[in-house]
Amino acid sequence: MLTGKNALITGSTSGIGLGIARALAGQGCSIMLNGLGNPENIAATRHALESEFRVTTCYNGADMTRPEEIASLVAATDETFGGIDILVNCAGIQHTAPVELFPSERWDTIIAINLSSSFHTIHHAVPLMRKSGWGRILNIASVHGLVASAHKAAYVAAKHGLVGLTKVVALETAGSGITSNAICPGWTRTELIEPQIIARAQTLGVDIEAGGRSMLAEKQPSQQFVSLEQLGQLALFLCSPGADQITGTALPIDGGWTAQ
Ligand code: NAD
Repeated sequence: MLTGKNALITGSTSGIGLGIARALAGQGCSIMLNGLGNPENIAATRHALESEFRVTTCYNGADMTRPEEIASLVAATDETFGGIDILVNCAGIQHTAPVELFPSERWDTIIAINLSSSFHTIHHAVPLMRKSGWGRILNIASVHGLVASAHKAAYVAAKHGLVGLTKVVALETAGSGITSNAICPGWTRTELIEPQIIARAQTLGVDIEAGGRSMLAEKQPSQQFVSLEQLGQLALFLCSPGADQITGTALPIDGGWTAQ
């Protein structure tokens, strides 16, 4: 149970971040949500979490490209909940293009959101975790933190960097009650990969579902998408006492993608 604990989850207004928020809330954890979205949808998300799981939620719309807003997000979480127990770095975006055509502005934004924002949250949250003598840092990396795919220069570079950051933080916090791990999902059906599914379907001249099956066939031997519930369960395990000695790892949850 996570009753009495709190979690700051960046990029939790949809997809994997929201799935992890639901899993943690299901164990009684208070949640600070963050991410983009319209106010009505975010209010509805908060209401759903609070009524289904009887937990407290807050929302802060800090832009993960802005270090000063990230500092305020961590400070606001500390003020609201009195510390930070669990930090989940999940905010992320994607852009695909061959390296010679990759816009440098997209490179900068992806590095800022998918990598640098995690440095900034960790930088501000670790002192709070050290004060309480317990903390869990879960960086949502990707199979692309471990292996590459064509046309994803910025994404792959950022996710490899995030795995490296995870290891450094694990070494610096070892034995302190804080653990730092990266979760490396394979294809998970969220808004982030929808444009890739649509593009694949158009290239093949097939419907969206067949486009998705084609992407799985290429990379994910199980031929099944990873579910938000499975990612939530892995996050919960990493927050449990059974995972006290798991730190500095990059855990694939990818239907066999990185075994190839
Ligand atoms: P998603 O688009 O549903 O979620 C992305 C989240 O990041 C959203 O809440 C969005 O609002 C937020 N975000 C984007 N830009 C932001 C900004 N500037 N400031 C604050 N928040 C911002 O997609 P998802 O698939 O759930 O992605 C979540 C994470 O999982 C990402 O880091 C992604 O790289 C990673 N991931 C996804 C897959 C997949 O197949 N879907 C696989 C591996 C890793």
